[in-house]
Amino acid sequence: MISVVLGDITTLAVDAVVNAANVALLAGGGVDGAIHDAAGPELQQACLDHPEVEPGVRCPTGEVRVTDAFALPARWIIHTAGPVWRGGEKDEERLLACCYRNALAEARALGARSVAFPCISTGIFGFPQRRAAAIAVRACRHFLETGHLPERVVLVAFSDRDAETLRTELDRVLRG
Ligand code: ADP
Repeated sequence: MISVVLGDITTLAVDAVVNAANVALLAGGGVDGAIHDAAGPELQQACLDHPEVEPGVRCPTGEVRVTDAFALPARWIIHTAGPVWRGGEKDEERLLACCYRNALAEARALGARSVAFPCISTGIFGFPQRRAAAIAVRACRHFLETGHLPERVVLVAFSDRDAETLRTELDRVLRG
């Protein structure tokens, strides 16, 4: 089941919270900053425990890395680096879909029954919200059709406008 919730993702009692991180897995702004603040300082060290795959890159764009959730109500944080929007010709849509699919596959592998996503890439990374919402909803729907877990996916909006956009796209996809 996919639902849309308006609020702060750090407060949600779900098994796994997805973080819209950056490739370096260094605490940044936006939802990443909020997650680091709420989880506590151990989170940064847990991120740094993931090895660099190239200089400055611990999580290539579209991939995921898992850490403990420390002081969050969740059990795990699934960090993903969304694409930076560069006009749409740089594979941004495919990479954003990869973030959702890979995070859901990781959640399934962990045994997570519930997982919450922020609107990946739509803040500092500049991805157009409506396009991102359509990709998010479609990627989640397709993934949930392939197995039992996770049972519940929460798409978290941080503004009324984003919640409205997500609900519109979810209705569209569910109507088929
Ligand atoms: P990115 O760098 O991937 O664009 P941002 O953190 O800048 O990531 O923004 C992603 C989305 O997360 C935006 O829609 C932003 O409004 C939202 N956001 C920011 N803080 C929170 C929060 N505490 N809970 C849920 N969503 C949040």
